[in-house]
Amino acid sequence: MRPHDFGIHPPLFYDLSRLANTMLNSSLKQLSALLAAKKISSVELTGEFLKRVKALNPDYNAFITVDEKMSLAQAQAADAMIASGQARPLTGIPIAQKDIFCTKGWLTTCGSKMLSNFVSPYDAGVIERFNAVGAVNIGKTNMDEFAMGSSNETSFYGPVKNPWDITAVPGGSSGGSACAVAARMAPAATGTDTGGSIRQPAALCGISGIKPTYGLVSRYGMIAFASSLDQGGPMAKSAEDLALMLNVMAGFDTRDSTSLQRASEDYARDLAKPLQGLRIGLPKEYFVEGMSADVARAVEAAIGEYRKLGAETVEVSLPNTKLSIPVYYVLAPAEASSNLSRFDGVRYGHRAPEYIDLNDMYQKSRAQGFGAEVKRRILIGTYVLSHGYYDAYYIQAQKLRRLIAQDFAAAFAQCDIIMGPTTPTTAFALGEKSGNPVQMYLSDTYTIATNLAGLPGMSIPAGFGDNNRPVGLHIIGNYFAEAQMLNVAHQYQQVTDWHMRMPDKLTA
Ligand code: GLN
Repeated sequence: MRPHDFGIHPPLFYDLSRLANTMLNSSLKQLSALLAAKKISSVELTGEFLKRVKALNPDYNAFITVDEKMSLAQAQAADAMIASGQARPLTGIPIAQKDIFCTKGWLTTCGSKMLSNFVSPYDAGVIERFNAVGAVNIGKTNMDEFAMGSSNETSFYGPVKNPWDITAVPGGSSGGSACAVAARMAPAATGTDTGGSIRQPAALCGISGIKPTYGLVSRYGMIAFASSLDQGGPMAKSAEDLALMLNVMAGFDTRDSTSLQRASEDYARDLAKPLQGLRIGLPKEYFVEGMSADVARAVEAAIGEYRKLGAETVEVSLPNTKLSIPVYYVLAPAEASSNLSRFDGVRYGHRAPEYIDLNDMYQKSRAQGFGAEVKRRILIGTYVLSHGYYDAYYIQAQKLRRLIAQDFAAAFAQCDIIMGPTTPTTAFALGEKSGNPVQMYLSDTYTIATNLAGLPGMSIPAGFGDNNRPVGLHIIGNYFAEAQMLNVAHQYQQVTDWHMRMPDKLTA
């Protein structure tokens, strides 16, 4: 992109090319200030990002649906809010929404052929919250089908490319959102994380992302994969941006029975706190073989930076770490097989064009509508829940889940925060693991345990590995420690600039 590519609709009262240039790396706070000072309108800002999406998306495939008219109508409404003095944080800011969130009047596909004709009649709880503050939906992002995957290759809409290297995967399942932010097609995005789907793509694309404590963000209208693990959260360039996003996203929702009723908090309140005396736990099980040398180097350097900031490190142990992937691949498919039974070709979604009777219609609709990975999960889930296997697999996995949660409770008696790598390797090549599910599942080695325990986890950029591919630092907090985690991340981002880097070829 060249600066002049942005300057299509003069006359404007500011230097568009200069603004476009700075805008790409502006924080949400800076964009809000530009809007508040009337240096730019939301219609203009949205228009700039839409132009960038139009230019880049054919190469990256980060968005499934872009609807300029709908986005610009929202931007116009936001401008009216600003003009009447009713601006709130994020008013008029374009946000990319993962296509798992039901969005009224928009196609909501969940990356599946099954929902390729589904226009949602209602907004998800999270979308309502963005609408209430006057944020602008800039488009629906690509994702692994029903959020099942770690590479975005299971999407019915084709794979997303990693902005740092077009031959590499962006991670998944929120790979479209991660790519959109990394390529600066949106200043921020939403994701969901069942076993790592916010943190792993954030790590692989060099952005920041947080999976909140289970129950903090409403799951109403967020298409269910594994309900006891699914949690929505923000993806953005910096911890400061994540705090502003989480302030909008988090909150009680009576329509989600697992939503937590807590006093609302300002997640940005502790950003500036010094880290003197912070106790960082380093799980000995994380720093073993399996982690590649380039990732280890970057993570160790980041921990060194924290020591300079006044933090201390202590070794902790999470002895059941190795059980988290097997436990997850019993529980998540079990829940998925139940959740996905609603897609039967009757109520909404794909229906086979030809069939003989009702059963044949169900079978054909599901056979045609679901991709291979989704079918694999449904089969595993049905198996582990069936009579005779339920005790051996499902109940056993539930017991181990408890042990995994207890490991964290013991570790948090010794430290304030836990750190390690987000992923064992940097972004892998497209096609490298798509034929080997077990290899693919190992991508979430470090992230899955937090979902099983319901704990918050985040990933922030911590440098680059071989081939200039981003490395993510994983930060795990205790329940409801989001403000503290964002503080810990923000302080690192005050002394490093990894989070501000963007692929050279994409600078305006
Ligand atoms: N990669 C994991 C899976 O395939 C996690 C996905 C997610 O967090 N949605 O299930």
